[in-house]
Amino acid sequence: MKTCSECKNEMTEMSSKTPEGVVYKYFKCEKCGEEIVDMKQLHNVAEKYREMKKYHVKLSKWGLSMGLRIPKELIKKYNFKNEEEVTLIPEDKGIKIIPS
Ligand SMILES: [Zn+2]
Repeated sequence: MKTCSECKNEMTEMSSKTPEGVVYKYFKCEKCGEEIVDMKQLHNVAEKYREMKKYHVKLSKWGLSMGLRIPKELIKKYNFKNEEEVTLIPEDKGIKIIPS
């Protein structure tokens, strides 16, 4: 359990989301409103960001459409083949690519 450094009240572990949709945890003191993130929680968020960044790719214009490069790790993981047709499923927060 964490104790508030301001008022010594017991702190509750809360969970929130960054604008990118990364879930993170932090401690909040319900008495004075003090919020802290400990090393373990910080490490977890950093790890999630590292995972996200791994697959950061740039879109490039192809005529009126746009193309993106799929990193080789993902090609391997999903066994994508050259010229293979895939299905794009638009979702609220992005587009899902389904191998055929
Ligand atoms: Zn407090």
